[in-house]
Amino acid sequence: MTVNSLDTNWDAIVIGGGPAGSAASAILAEYGHRVLVLEREKFPRYHIGESLIPFTYQPLERLGLIPLMKSSGFVKKYSVVFISRSGKASEPFYFFNRYDRNSVAQTWQVLRSEFDQILMDNARCKGAHVIEEITVKELLRDNGRVVGVRAQRKSGEVVEFRAPITLDCSGKEAFSSVRNGWRMKDPYLNKVAVWTYYQGSKREPGIDEGATTVAYVPEKGWFWHIPQHNDMVSVGVVAEGKYLTRDGVREPEHIFKREIEQNAWIKDHLSVGQQVGPYFIINEYTHHARHCGSEGLLLVGDAFAFLDPVFSSGLMLALKSGTLAGEEVHKAIAEGDFSARRFEPYGRAMREGIENMRKLVYAFYNPDFSFKKVIDKYPEAAGEITDCLSGDVNKDFTPLWNKIREFVPLPENLPLGEPQSKEVACATAT
Ligand SMILES: Cc1cc2nc3c(=O)[nH]c(=O)nc-3n(C[C@H](O)[C@H](O)[C@H](O)COP(=O)(O)OP(=O)(O)OC[C@H]3O[C@@H](n4cnc5c(N)ncnc54)[C@H](O)[C@@H]3O)c2cc1C
Repeated sequence: MTVNSLDTNWDAIVIGGGPAGSAASAILAEYGHRVLVLEREKFPRYHIGESLIPFTYQPLERLGLIPLMKSSGFVKKYSVVFISRSGKASEPFYFFNRYDRNSVAQTWQVLRSEFDQILMDNARCKGAHVIEEITVKELLRDNGRVVGVRAQRKSGEVVEFRAPITLDCSGKEAFSSVRNGWRMKDPYLNKVAVWTYYQGSKREPGIDEGATTVAYVPEKGWFWHIPQHNDMVSVGVVAEGKYLTRDGVREPEHIFKREIEQNAWIKDHLSVGQQVGPYFIINEYTHHARHCGSEGLLLVGDAFAFLDPVFSSGLMLALKSGTLAGEEVHKAIAEGDFSARRFEPYGRAMREGIENMRKLVYAFYNPDFSFKKVIDKYPEAAGEITDCLSGDVNKDFTPLWNKIREFVPLPENLPLGEPQSKEVACATAT
């Protein structure tokens, strides 16, 4: 194998130019650091994950993208609506009843090919050097410390890049987590999702047009219904695999069509318009990395952890961790300290948010749980629930968990997220 060693003149290497990678590299480039982003695909590329939640506002603001988002064609999202199994819709749950109407309370339904391109262009514009159609194959190490990557271009050429810090933003494939043996499935959140797109189907009028709708099917399964621009709607169903494939039905299209019959609201909304493109399927996607990084390595976005999508928290967490990682790595570069220990606060902050959201996800899937039951008994819990669901996840929710535990058990925090110390990394490598 011929390896071409290219520039070693980078301050940071970023694996993956999705939302997490573009956010981190934009911040680093803005500080004047030399950042190299290596992205496997040619953008714009398709990606699932299209609904933002209110507290994505802050990272987008930090990235300077709010004016562009406001002038974009993305559908504005003001609320979430829940549909019972019988097809009855709840009142829209408007974010502006709790948050500032002109900022956090209005978010967006995005088309990821366009949204991710905006984020990548922003990183480029601020000075990040992005190479597309190059796949990172290996982390380069020196005495346990990550010192760069080996990658392969589409042409087959193998190249090496070196920098004192590598940010793994590779998404759900979790490049470093898999290779380091850090990847763990969530003990309970092992669902299957099947989805497709419709054009010209029914949507609500006025400010309710952009609502995310969560429509229940049996056995705690649910549909997402996410209206997008150009009259497109993203529609998917999530449930246990054994429920979705009952009676031996395995084809994504057949699974999807059978579940439409399970909810009158979904059936009605898809009764007009055209199904467009393929049916997609994914399973067992929730995962966590045991460590947030090690010396010279930091995990960001889905590469660190990914939760079940029921509350649309993925992009908020990816952009939040991307901006936070950008700030932390900037300080690391300024101080010349890339030790594992200095990333402890980053790992703790991200796990705190993930664990709070994870508790609500667990509650959601418990058949004995409903938000209504908790709020009927404890009206003051409504605000705390809203905050967590809206993505304001880095605060102490102990009072809320104590209330919810009267109805259903909640999981303990997973003991994860500390960076791996150098000693352990060396022992593992040898
Ligand atoms: C069914 C489903 C529904 C979802 N719905 C929502 C939703 O409604 N709202 C929401 O906020 N989130 C949702 N998500 C989650 C959301 O998609 C992710 O959280 C988000 O994309 C994470 O961003 P990221 O930058 O970490 O990873 P990604 O967006 O996956 O970006 C990673 C990038 O890294 C590149 N890459 C990977 N490996 C390599 C390599 N070896 N070398 C070079 N490049 C590489 C990939 O090509 C990709 O471009 C959903 C997820 C699923 C599975």
